[in-house]
Amino acid sequence: MTSPSLVWFRDDLRITDNPALHAATDAGPTLALYVLDEESPGVRPLGGAARWWLHHALVALREELDRIGVPLVLRRGAAAAVVPAVAAEAGAGGLFWNRRYGGGERRADAAVKQIARSSGLRAESHQASLLHEPWELTTRQGGPYKVFTPFWKELSSHDFRHPLPAPQRQRVPEKAPWGDSLEQWGLLPRDPDWSVPLAEAWTPGPRAAGEFLEEFTDSVLSGYSEDRERPGQAGTSRLSPYLRWGHLSPFEVWHAIGRRRHEAPGGSAAFASELGWREFAWHQLYHHPDLATVNLRREFDAYPWWSKGDGGGQAALLRRWQRGRTGLPLVDAGQRELWATGWMHNRVRMVSASLLVKNLGIDWRLGEQWFWDTLVDADAASNPFNWQWAAGCGADASPFFRIFNPLTQEKTHDPDGTYTRRWIPELGTPDYPEACVDLKESREAALEAFRSLPRNR
Ligand code: FAD
Repeated sequence: MTSPSLVWFRDDLRITDNPALHAATDAGPTLALYVLDEESPGVRPLGGAARWWLHHALVALREELDRIGVPLVLRRGAAAAVVPAVAAEAGAGGLFWNRRYGGGERRADAAVKQIARSSGLRAESHQASLLHEPWELTTRQGGPYKVFTPFWKELSSHDFRHPLPAPQRQRVPEKAPWGDSLEQWGLLPRDPDWSVPLAEAWTPGPRAAGEFLEEFTDSVLSGYSEDRERPGQAGTSRLSPYLRWGHLSPFEVWHAIGRRRHEAPGGSAAFASELGWREFAWHQLYHHPDLATVNLRREFDAYPWWSKGDGGGQAALLRRWQRGRTGLPLVDAGQRELWATGWMHNRVRMVSASLLVKNLGIDWRLGEQWFWDTLVDADAASNPFNWQWAAGCGADASPFFRIFNPLTQEKTHDPDGTYTRRWIPELGTPDYPEACVDLKESREAALEAFRSLPRNR
């Protein structure tokens, strides 16, 4: 009996361009494993919208793997205990996975690798989720990039490998270890089930990802440079959850866009640099594993942001922001879009974040946590990275004094009100609230607080 290979799936829920799966199937019959790990220290438990996505993504992955003769085993627990145990039960000869870049994840993976190797198992990791490994892209001084433009100049000067095809159908391994049933994990919301609008907006899985990519390159890419700033239009790719869950690899997206660069030069270049921001965020997380909790610019530790437990009226303001009841239409439309569909347009994310941290004076970490729980694309790098960018305390961040005015932003980016009216049916009626904050006064107060930070005095 040949020993099967074991592939440990994580943020790479696809069978095309999956180097770990490829290496495993090259070695012979293969089993797949997904571990719901809510126990390893430093691995952030998934938010509610992400749990919904994961459920459907695993259903889709199982279908794809069945087609190529690779059974999927589901288990729950700390990776360092579960993965070696499943490998032993399966009598696996080799263990394969694609790399992760968060601090807790890297520690868990290192522990699994060490246990596997000490029991004589071949354990191999591959590059699949980023175009470039963070430790390989450094400044001339050998340190990490802190500024996007030189980072992007360097990154985009590289050639990236072409995507791998899906493996051929395999002989199914003779035995598979026991697994949990997906229903047992309770990933779907119940009482109340708030997922109906999510399911109308999204179909998790690689097939839908491929359709989104095709639709984007065929119809949207050529106008992307201009239309991407219009939340009322379908002017962006909406690929973020598909990239987050690895239904598509960045290599697949990169080359699909590259093939259109002659027909849509402006759109392709603008879009490629957005993929660059994704890489930049992950490189920052790699170098700063506590990105979700610690200000990258430590002088902001003294900024008097309001946080839970501080008392005062901000708790009510935070709730109004979360529920899309601030009385500022662009922000409210965005927050309602987020609550209903698990996604918000990037321009609106920036304006909404700016209002929370600058005008309402609420700690960016509370906004980050809300997005973590509600976004289907919430990822451990892009979310905290962009919150720190919006708060002014991050890498290559928006200068603090750049405080978006949500009313001006609405005029510029949603001039005919398509977006705000779509999400706020009561707009213009007495049911819509007054603005919850004086934009001018709160702006002045934020600037004053910023000027009084130790390093700015
Ligand atoms: P497109 O414009 O089509 O861009 C293509 C891809 O580039 C995206 O799918 C995404 O993978 C990447 N990308 C684009 N902009 C950024 C960016 N600023 N940072 C990192 N990657 C980017 N994006 C996430 O994927 N997950 C998050 O948790 C997340 N949280 C955010 C929080 C805040 C406060 C802000 C301001 C932005 C956040 N973003 C996050 C970035 C951005 O808003 C989304 O990636 C984008 O809106 C996704 O829509 P799209 O796929 O249509 O983007």
